[in-house]
Amino acid sequence: MSDTGVTVKKNVDFSEWYVEVVLKAELADYAPVKGCMIIRPDAYAVWEKLQEVVNQKIKATGHRNTYFPMFIPEAFLKKEAEHFAGFTPEVAWITQGGDTPLEERLAVRPTSETIMYAMFSKWVRSWRDLPLKINQWCNIVRWETKATKLFLRTREFLWQEGHTAHATAEEGEIEVMWALNMFKDVIENYLAIPVVLGTKSDSEKFAGALYTTALESIMPDGKALQMGTSHNLGQHFAKVFDVKFIGEDKQDHYVWQTSWGITTRLIGAMIMVHGDDKGLVMPPKVAPTQVVIVPIPFKGQEAEAIAAKTKEIQGILTAKGVSVILDDRQEYTPGWKFHQWELKGIPVRIELGPRDLKAGQVIMVRRDTGEKIPVKEADIAGTVEKLMLDIQDNLLAKAKAILQEKTTLVQSYEEFKTVLDSKAGFIKAAWCGNPECEAKVKDETGATIRVRPFQKEEPTTNCIICGQKAKETVYFARSY
Ligand SMILES: [Zn+2]
Repeated sequence: MSDTGVTVKKNVDFSEWYVEVVLKAELADYAPVKGCMIIRPDAYAVWEKLQEVVNQKIKATGHRNTYFPMFIPEAFLKKEAEHFAGFTPEVAWITQGGDTPLEERLAVRPTSETIMYAMFSKWVRSWRDLPLKINQWCNIVRWETKATKLFLRTREFLWQEGHTAHATAEEGEIEVMWALNMFKDVIENYLAIPVVLGTKSDSEKFAGALYTTALESIMPDGKALQMGTSHNLGQHFAKVFDVKFIGEDKQDHYVWQTSWGITTRLIGAMIMVHGDDKGLVMPPKVAPTQVVIVPIPFKGQEAEAIAAKTKEIQGILTAKGVSVILDDRQEYTPGWKFHQWELKGIPVRIELGPRDLKAGQVIMVRRDTGEKIPVKEADIAGTVEKLMLDIQDNLLAKAKAILQEKTTLVQSYEEFKTVLDSKAGFIKAAWCGNPECEAKVKDETGATIRVRPFQKEEPTTNCIICGQKAKETVYFARSY
């Protein structure tokens, strides 16, 4: 294999494999600024797809997009003590403008609750102003000190943050679950990654939230990845930022708030979950290019006929809404092109050579299975349409099987540690609910409670850490 291809096997050195796929498939690159990344067009196009889907869903339910400044006055962040304490270790501060020191430091937004809710207090006056439902697509800066991992941990990343204010606690709760399920739909049905839904333990919740709900998944190396969160903020921020309204009862009330988001790390998850030894495998629904057509070159009169036929196929598929590249470059061999497009994860390749032309057919090759399928000319559009669905389904089914395989129920702390160090993944264990037991596990093993699943499972033992009566079965894992 040439140095343009992936040289490391996924199951031999996962971490190195990931970096090679990201760099060689031209998804991202390291920026000249330490800890930052450049999102290249093929990956940015996936982000745009996610934006499209999420925008459609949030707008259909009355949310509207907005934009706030990326600078947050220090005093705003400090207003909610728990929130400030949670974020301050990673805040980047601006202390000077030109040569002039600023009177008050400005935070480069690590999240926008504080600046947004300062404005909410101005905008919300009466029950008629509620619910207030906005969303922002923007960049976020958190000054990570740990090593950078492209898409997964960088000092700057992209996300959307939804922020809502409601008249009642109940409406807030409904919104939290709506956002969480909206994310589940996007992540499972577009990125083809299965997730476990539930709440975070108190020590893992968002700083300042009443409680945090989350979507968690397991990557092929057995580490968990948080795929998205939806927070019930209760009235904490409303009381701090004085977001009040006059109710129908003519009395003053604080609003009930939520915030929720997904980030560009989802692209990292997609690469890790679906990629293979040849490179990236794009789920068809988010693939910027769904089909690549490669004419097999030869000499003579048939060359023109093949060129004409491939153009015709491109036209037919484009008209059906399929995104197609016709790779008729003369300077590369078909074999080189196959490797290149496999590396980039294009779901379906169509080959057309002289023999196919004579037989009135093309060869379709699935990226996910490598299967080669002869398809009659008349069936091309229908087959592509079917393959897009099949590949999407197959990727999700494979990922579900892996998630299941990487989830283990343990009966004791000894077994917990053995599983964690051998196969890792989600480890389901009985927990008493005491944060001290949770902290002990974290100190001793590095694993945390990723999620307290909504789908409750009765504990099969006492708390595996302290031996007291267990309250629930929770999912532990080491995580990104
Ligand atoms: Zn315990």
